[in-house]
Amino acid sequence: MKRVINYSAGPAGIPLEVLEQARDEMLDWNNTGCSVMEVSHRGKEYDALHMETMDLFRELAGMGKDWNVLFCTGGASTQFMMLPWNFLGNGKDKQADYVATGNWSKAAIKEAKRYGKITLPANMELEGERFVAIPKQSDLNLNPAAEYVHYTSNNTVEGTQWHYIPDSKGKPLVCDMSSDIFSRPVDFSKFSMIYAGAQKNLGPSGVTVVAIKDEFLAKANEDLPTMMSYKVFKDKFSMHNTPPCFSIYILNLTMKWLKKNGGLAAMGKINEAKQQALYAAVDGSAGYYTGLANKDSRSWMNIDFKLPSAELDDKFIKDAKAAGIVQVKGYRSMGGIRLSAYNAVSLKDVETTIQFMNDFRSKNA
Ligand SMILES: *Cc1c(COP(=O)(O)O)cnc(C)c1O
Repeated sequence: MKRVINYSAGPAGIPLEVLEQARDEMLDWNNTGCSVMEVSHRGKEYDALHMETMDLFRELAGMGKDWNVLFCTGGASTQFMMLPWNFLGNGKDKQADYVATGNWSKAAIKEAKRYGKITLPANMELEGERFVAIPKQSDLNLNPAAEYVHYTSNNTVEGTQWHYIPDSKGKPLVCDMSSDIFSRPVDFSKFSMIYAGAQKNLGPSGVTVVAIKDEFLAKANEDLPTMMSYKVFKDKFSMHNTPPCFSIYILNLTMKWLKKNGGLAAMGKINEAKQQALYAAVDGSAGYYTGLANKDSRSWMNIDFKLPSAELDDKFIKDAKAAGIVQVKGYRSMGGIRLSAYNAVSLKDVETTIQFMNDFRSKNA
């Protein structure tokens, strides 16, 4: 067996220890004589796992009991519809603020427009559908009539990230944290709701974690299809229907791994060191590697850069693969290279990668 250094943007790498535990428990989970995929979601074994997973999430995030952790399906993309459907409704008379900082915020805006009037406190889009920067607080033109303010903390495609929590001037703050959740400490008390598809930093695809404060949830519409209602998810502990049990199980193991390794504070230190080293390799390459995002907006999670030509980008991708460093190709609209260095990528992996980058440059300059 040979494990590679995996920079997949999502579904992303999962810590080896988590995979090993899942392997060891595959045939007989928790002395049930079954895998976790083969037991009733109404049974006591699964129920304990399910509830423990919610508690683990709150514990790692430092969230109190006024936060509800929901396990939804349909990916973060389904939240693009569920959020406005719950808080704006069908009438299109309600308003919400959405900050446009990248491809995923645009996708959220497109869906939200079906449910209300959407205003943009800032639109960072440049010619050619490019985004390279995060707005400053002073650039945000907030709508006083907005029901909530939505933003995307990390722009997975463009390699930009908010390094502060915007002040929403008393409006409920909602954040798509799909690609940087639990990568460093965050003051979650500033938010009313956050959500994240698990497949970047939390585990496998199939489950989307939504955390929502009681106070905000109380304002949600009641007249919704059952599976679209946050209130139903809360009241039924995300078990109105069959939850994605296996994904929740891996989420549980991944959060235990995170906790064992020092939680968000320790992870933040490692991720800070990883991105510093990677950007130093880009910036120290005498112009051979060029970062794609503005320096003050650079993401710790998705490190985007390009080589002097598209041919060299392709050669880099090919040679990296031969060296056991995979899934480094940039998003199709961006070109170049994207290294998605989520939690499961270690500092040692990053050091090996930098060695490869330096060698590649001296051979191909
Ligand atoms: C990946 C991603 C999404 C889409 O997630 P799905 O689970 O595939 O729907 C949304 N937002 C951000 C920031 C992402 O990185």
